[in-house]
Formats: sequence, structure tokens, C-alpha cells
Amino acid sequence: MRAREIRLTSWGHHRHADMTAYRPERLPALRQAVRTATADGGSIAYGNGRNYGDLAMRDGGTALLTRRLDRIIEFDAYTGATTLEAGVTFSELHEFATQRGFLPPVTPGTAFVTIGGGVASDVHGKNHDLCGTLGAHIDWIDIVVANGECVRASQTEHPELFAATVGGCGLTGVIAVVRLRLRRQRANAVETREFRVRDLDHFFELMAEHRDKATYTVGWVDALQRGRKLGRGIYQTGEPVLSDLTGPRHGGPTVPFTFPARTLNRHSVSLFNEAYFRRVPAPGRHRVIDYDTFHHPLDAISHWNRLYGRGGFYQFQCVIPDENGIDGVRALLEQVATVGAASFLAVLKTFGAEGFGHLSFPRPGVTLSLDLPARPETRELMHRLEFTTRDSGGRIYLAKDATMSAEGFAEMYPRLERFRSVLAEYDPTGRFESDMSRRLKIRTVP
Ligand SMILES: Cc1cc2nc3c(=O)[nH]c(=O)nc-3n(C[C@H](O)[C@H](O)[C@H](O)COP(=O)(O)OP(=O)(O)OC[C@H]3O[C@@H](n4cnc5c(N)ncnc54)[C@H](O)[C@@H]3O)c2cc1C
Repeated sequence: MRAREIRLTSWGHHRHADMTAYRPERLPALRQAVRTATADGGSIAYGNGRNYGDLAMRDGGTALLTRRLDRIIEFDAYTGATTLEAGVTFSELHEFATQRGFLPPVTPGTAFVTIGGGVASDVHGKNHDLCGTLGAHIDWIDIVVANGECVRASQTEHPELFAATVGGCGLTGVIAVVRLRLRRQRANAVETREFRVRDLDHFFELMAEHRDKATYTVGWVDALQRGRKLGRGIYQTGEPVLSDLTGPRHGGPTVPFTFPARTLNRHSVSLFNEAYFRRVPAPGRHRVIDYDTFHHPLDAISHWNRLYGRGGFYQFQCVIPDENGIDGVRALLEQVATVGAASFLAVLKTFGAEGFGHLSFPRPGVTLSLDLPARPETRELMHRLEFTTRDSGGRIYLAKDATMSAEGFAEMYPRLERFRSVLAEYDPTGRFESDMSRRLKIRTVP
């Protein structure tokens, strides 16, 4: 198989890596690529580049591009069990599932994520309180490990490899095939209720009231507000429904070029936030919207990440345990508002049960995510947000992270030693590595 030189970046566009890339189309070619790449000194899988940090790149190393592993192999119309290759995207899976009266059990905030990338980050959707992460709906996975062997892992076969691979950021090997249980549900739309939220106390009241009842819940926060209005925003609940709506699919407007730096500043974001807040009338509203608009609102605008300019942007996402939820989130929002960091994509929502993956992110609590333009002062803010998260007993999401310290990581992920034991067994010489695994010293004790 031919290799080519390639420059890869993440969705945050704040860094890149020069890599040698292989693009296998079938399992034998993938196994060959892993053997060749490992002999060359290390590699990491790259799905569709929808992470925000450095976990799918290894500067100077080898990228195993999975997008062409894109077949849906088997489907059981009775149970919904579906066997598919790791390069299939959620968008493709959704189309396949809805035509047969099913839905993907979990879908992240963009449908352009691959199933392999979804498993490697054990992704969550707006139904986490009730349905958990993607990993909770997987029967087994086939993984090509460092020696080129393909190993099947599940709760009963190689269970430690399974727990290390679900949420394991590609460090155990390349996921080739996934057996996933779809959810039987005829739905193409979401019946949603939106509430205007006055402040953070009001947010927490609404989340407590709806998190165990509504199928989908999510909130948007105006991250520029301080004082009495800190935490104001919109809270949304939703139920899947069948409707005759013909909603917009992908292929809407495109951001045609990378915007000049500082287009997104305190002033422009504050105008956007005011309009976004007022779009929901004061008494709230109730309507039916198409599935994609509800779950993947930004997918309608191609290359929206160019809005942040050439320097790109960071994303910060953490979860704060319920017992410290309101105080932790207040402290984080105060820090962001104080420096006037222009985040127009600030999301607040609740999580249910913890995932079984050793490095799975969600745990019962409240998750806050923020987009922050990558400027010299932003890294300092990210470090302060990390300290506040640690103080609150919380955890930062690896799929979004680019700045966390190795000490912080080890503190937040208590099953790290078990993860390391699996790496020691399946990849003793550390052939699978990423810039993130080096930064966080995942293979060595910090
Ligand atoms: C707009 C937007 C919204 C998002 N919303 C959510 C959300 O709601 N919930 C959520 O959980 N996440 C969310 N994410 C994050 C996204 O789901 C994860 O970053 C996901 O891992 C990206 O998958 P990808 O296919 O693009 O893989 P990449 O970004 O290319 O890679 C991500 C990781 O997966 C590994 N990987 C990819 N394919 C394989 C494979 N076949 N085998 C082994 N490892 C592999 C890579 O090595 C890397 O560690 C969002 C991202 C964006 C851009």
C-alpha cells in the first residue's frame, strides 16, 4: 500500500502535524498498514478530524486514515444489531437506521464523526442521562492491535482491552469493526420545549426537573454575563417524533474563508448572544424541528470553525460532579466572563451514569463546554479552568482538550493505571502514540 505525506489538523485548527498517511480500504490492508507503520516508529488512527485537540495526530509519525473503511456489513431488522466498519459516519448510520425504523442510540453534536472516532472518545449525546455513552450500546469491537493481529473485544472476550478501547483515544490500536445496537424508534424530528433561563440557579432548577424525564436535554449559556445574570441562557428538552417536516439536511451555507483574527470579539459575541437569547420568547416555546437541526445544529454551516480566524480556537469541556455542580460551574463561568473571553458556543447539560471505559469522560454531574479563540492569553485561562475543575472534583474531556497538564489528567482519570496495564500487554513498546499521549504522559508515570 502506498503512503503519502500529509498535514493534519483538528477541528480547533490551532495546531497541525506532518505525518505519513495510509488509507486502507479493507481489513487485510489495515493490518498491513499497522504492521508497516509500527515498524516505522508509531502511529495513530485518524477518523474524520472532529476532535478539537491533539489526540488524532503525532507529528512526524504515521496516520492511519479510517474513512474508507465505510461498509455496513450486517443488520438484524428484529433486534437492530448492526455490524459496521469504523469509518462509517454517524450521518451515514443515521440515514441507514431511519430508513429501517431505528435510530443510532447516541449521537454527538456533529454527525460527521466516524463510528471509530465515536468509540475512541466514548461519545455522549443529548440523551446521556437516560441512555449513557455510545459504549453502553456496543456488543463487541474488532481491534487491530500493535502486532497487526485483529482481536475481538467485548464485556466477556478480552474485557480489559474492551474497557481500554472504549474511550481510549486510539491508543490500544485501530478499531476496524463495531457491533452496535440501534434503538427501535420511528422518528425523523424532535418535539422540543425551550425555556428562557434567568440565571444559574434557574438553570439548575430546570435541569433537576427534566434530566430524568425528557429523552433529550441541553442548555445554551450566555458566557459573557456576570453578576445577577450570570448563567442566563436557553434550556431545551426534546422527544423523538415522526413528522411530515422536510427539514434541512447538510449542504447549507459555507463559511467561504478563514475570518480575520479577532472578528469574534467581546462586542460581536455579545450582539450574537443577545439575539440568540431573545429568539426564544419570554414565556418559552414549543415546536417540532427536524432531527438534524436539533442534534447537529452547526452541521448546516460548512467550515464554521473558520469563523475563529487563522489561529483557530480551543474548546474546554469538563464535567463537575452533582454535589459541587452549581458552585463549580459558577466559578468557571465567572473566570470566563471576567476576562471577556468570547465564547458564543457555551453548552451546559447534565450527565447520568459513568461509562465503563477506563478513560470515558462522562460521570454523573453537569458538563460545561466553551469555545475560546486561541490567543496568547487563552492558554492561561485554560490552565485556570483546569485548576477550578480539579478543585471541584471534576474531569476534562480528552476529545476536546489541548492544554491539560499530565498531573491534572492523572488526578481526573482514576482508572489510568488499569489503562496502562492494557497498553503494557497489547502494545508494550508504545507503537500507538499521539501528541496528546505524550503531552499527558499516558504511558509513563508523571
Ligand atoms: C461540532 C462538534 C460537536 C461535538 N459534539 C460532541 C458531543 O456532543 N459529544 C461528544 O462526545 N463529542 C462531541 N464532539 C467531539 C467528537 O465526537 C470526538 O472528538 C470524536 O472522537 C471525533 O471523531 P472523528 O471520527 O472525527 O475522529 P478523529 O477526530 O479523527 O479522532 C478522534 C480520536 O479517535 C481516534 N480514532 C478515530 N478513529 C479510530 C479508529 N477507527 N480506531 C481507533 N481510534 C480511532 C483517534 O486516534 C483520536 O484519538 C464534537 C465535535 C465537534 C467538532
